[in-house]
Amino acid sequence: MSTDGAFDRFTATIDAAAAIAGVKDSALLERIKTPERIHEVSVPIVRDDGSHVVLTGYRVQHSSARGPYKGGIRYHPNVSLDEVKALAAWMSIKTAVVDIPLGGGKGGIAVDPKTFSKTELEALTRSYTERIWRVIGPQVDIPAPDVNTNSQTMDWIAHEYGRQSRTISPAVVTGKSIAHGGSAGRDTATAQGGFEVLHAALEATGESIDGAKVSIQGFGNAGANAALLLHNAGALIVAASDSTAGVRDANGLPVLELIAYKAKGGSFADLDGYEKGSTEDPLFADSDILVPAALEGQITAANADGVKARWILELANGPTTPEADALLERRRVKVLPDILANAGGVVVSYYEWLQNLHAEKWLREEVEARLSVTMRRAYERVSELATFRRASFRLAAYAIAIERITTALSMESREGRVALGR
Ligand code: NAD
Repeated sequence: MSTDGAFDRFTATIDAAAAIAGVKDSALLERIKTPERIHEVSVPIVRDDGSHVVLTGYRVQHSSARGPYKGGIRYHPNVSLDEVKALAAWMSIKTAVVDIPLGGGKGGIAVDPKTFSKTELEALTRSYTERIWRVIGPQVDIPAPDVNTNSQTMDWIAHEYGRQSRTISPAVVTGKSIAHGGSAGRDTATAQGGFEVLHAALEATGESIDGAKVSIQGFGNAGANAALLLHNAGALIVAASDSTAGVRDANGLPVLELIAYKAKGGSFADLDGYEKGSTEDPLFADSDILVPAALEGQITAANADGVKARWILELANGPTTPEADALLERRRVKVLPDILANAGGVVVSYYEWLQNLHAEKWLREEVEARLSVTMRRAYERVSELATFRRASFRLAAYAIAIERITTALSMESREGRVALGR
């Protein structure tokens, strides 16, 4: 499935939500849509066999209207400028929806990291950091993990940034290992945030997670942790997939076993003893709740009618195209949108950044309690507006973000005018 046109999908959604936000100023909307800065860099490395390769990396700084740029770094063969622009823009919207004082950015390298050794991945990460270190920083732009990057990647970036800038700056990235300044609860934050949103939404309609059938596409940080939380709350995980295959069991998959298997580097394609299917299998499984937790552009106009679930919890960024959204809405499938549902990761990243800046260490319980309040508050605000304006959760969330970014931008222009007038 294609990820092309993701940025166009972002701008189309801004246009649709602007009416709900009551923003008609086209120049202002153009500012909200357009990335402030785009960096494209060459990433040279020497491979273990002595050969030289030059890869392409990006860092898109979309909006700093509400605070420093914030967003992950992805290593994937499909990484393109269009994709990174869309991911950066979604971060600006997401930080505004959960109302944390950060903007939006994203980075990536077009590479298949599965073909690289650990030494090569470190060399790649340090080379990329060498290229971008002048444009990131604790008060400027704070990267984090995304697909195929993790706490180890962040530790390398923080170390290389420190070497280049001759500073000790753990706050330059979030999602680090605990030993290097990471926050308790960051590993499970995206899943917990999604869980809170789902819980609140089901509560509002008198439904329950207990006994619900759930299917999950993607079994990495977001998907596997969500599987565990939902399983612990009494849900049956009836289908799951990774990038190699899908596995299913109508009586519920053994979540802990699957997590242990994946932690050892296993692929579902090699897992014996299960009914198998394609990587897209969970999208069309006979479930109550579908959790897309892999990549963008998975639920499209071509396949949306095959979705049987009544709820979609978007832990992946951009898994549903606008055309699919419209089809799902017509069938009254409720979509809890990425910019709300997966915001737990960036919220705890914000907590990690605060802890680093203030040399503090919060307890996991403290992090989880704060995250729960922030996510539930964001859900309530989105749900209120969606009901009031008879809009989808997605458009309501975008409208709230547009309003908050607009307020920040209007403050900026007033300051600009004052400065010019001096
Ligand atoms: P990850 O690398 O830990 O896991 C990705 C998972 O998706 C892996 O299990 C991989 O095998 C699987 N996958 C890849 N392509 C697939 C396909 N075509 N079909 C089925 N499975 C596939 O990444 P992650 O951090 O869990 O991120 C997953 C999604 O969640 C991404 O869209 C990411 O942007 C989003 N997200 C993650 C976070 C976070 O904190 N990790 C926060 C917000 C959003």
